[in-house]
Amino acid sequence: MEGNSPCASCKLLRRRCTKDCIFAPYFPSDDPHKFSIVHRIFGASNVSKMLQELPVHQRADAVSSLVYEATARTKDPVYGCVGAISYLQNQVSQLQMQLAVAQTEILCAQMQQEPPMAEQQVEAYDNNLTGMPQLMNNASSSNLAQDQLKREFLWT
Ligand SMILES: [Zn+2]
Repeated sequence: MEGNSPCASCKLLRRRCTKDCIFAPYFPSDDPHKFSIVHRIFGASNVSKMLQELPVHQRADAVSSLVYEATARTKDPVYGCVGAISYLQNQVSQLQMQLAVAQTEILCAQMQQEPPMAEQQVEAYDNNLTGMPQLMNNASSSNLAQDQLKREFLWT
């Protein structure tokens, strides 16, 4: 800490900033707005109590959450950060809907390019019956299109 300069909280509350001031690590004197907004919404003594109830390693997160909520509450006095959350949730569900529509369109486009489903199933059934894939193994069996061509050729 830089010398005797009080933290933002003690400066605003006009009190002496002691070495074990609970606000000092989270409300530096160079950012007075951060404390003033939290103080206005929650009150300094409530913030102090909240911080005291928390383990030290969680206090910084709690402070940034308090600052976020206080800022949101100032911008939107009725809903506060709930307003932002529900706005974002709305956006997520709209985007999920758009994604589902796009995926359906992709599926439709794919089905229009490929032969009808029934035909494919019949082919698969035929393969199982005749054991064609095993017969075709030695002749470039990895290429499905070629296999189909050969099969058609054998069968005619
Ligand atoms: Zn202080």
